[in-house]
Amino acid sequence: MSPIDLHSHSSISDGLFTPAELVGRAAAHGVRMLALTDHDDTAGLDEARKAAAAAGIELIDGVEISVTWNKRSVHVVGLRIDPAHRALRDGLASIRAGRGERARRIAAELDQVGISGSLEGAYALAANPNLVSRTHFARYLVGKGLAKDNRALFKKFLVKGKPGYVSHQWAVMADAIDWIRGSGGVAVLAHPGRYDLGRSNLNALIADFKDAGGEAIEVVTGSHTPDQFAQFARYAKEFDLLSSCGSDFHGPGESYMDLGRLPELPFGCKPVWHDWPEINGCDSPAA
Ligand code: AMP
Ligand code: MN
Ligand code: MN
Ligand code: MN
Repeated sequence: MSPIDLHSHSSISDGLFTPAELVGRAAAHGVRMLALTDHDDTAGLDEARKAAAAAGIELIDGVEISVTWNKRSVHVVGLRIDPAHRALRDGLASIRAGRGERARRIAAELDQVGISGSLEGAYALAANPNLVSRTHFARYLVGKGLAKDNRALFKKFLVKGKPGYVSHQWAVMADAIDWIRGSGGVAVLAHPGRYDLGRSNLNALIADFKDAGGEAIEVVTGSHTPDQFAQFARYAKEFDLLSSCGSDFHGPGESYMDLGRLPELPFGCKPVWHDWPEINGCDSPAA
């Protein structure tokens, strides 16, 4: 089991726990170095940092940026970012502004199929009014009995071809990478196995990501199968990228993997944290 988890969500985006609760749970589960990577918002980092200091674990400042690449939604994680960096702050603010307008369009689509009140319902479930996501709509719809849980809900709603889907223009991938790197951070392509791309598109995505300054890919994530751990370890090697691992934890019962349950990176992967000072004392297996 790895004591390192570089992808997680709090209630600042679509996680179920506050930043302090998330850090407490991570520490209790044996995580020694945790990155908080909320979608498009860094407002949870101060609280998380304080909680990590109290719990005696390392907190890595992170963010997960929503981007559009070739008309598809792709996520880029930034690690060891500076949340005060101007271009990063402004870029994230512009993405959040777009989310509000998108939420109104999602609600209008749901209205069309006779589901009313979803805008108010989603906002009521969003602890951060600046960050309403499809997850909040999904929870509202599950609460109305439209599916048994979020995973089942996302098969019937909010995705292409289903009610409540809207297309949306997120940030340009190269801009997101520039904001991350400009702030001193490292850009990581999140869960590359989740994009449902054919082999040639996947190659093109990883090549574009690397050309734009991306330095790492997630090899081990909660949403990859063991076969995909090996597949993306090969990609990392082929494209000379560093490897990352993160649970992508959102909450119990809503995530593929809980905190503190991640396997180690496959043999031969060069970890994204290989030269980080925070690793001192964290890289031996948890007791
Ligand atoms: P958004 O950024 O508003 O498009 O919302 C995307 C979020 O929805 C992701 O970060 C996941 O937390 C959640 N999500 C997307 N697809 C699924 C799925 N199939 N099952 C569960 N959650 C999902
Ligand atoms: Mn999410
Ligand atoms: Mn993601
Ligand atoms: Mn995530």
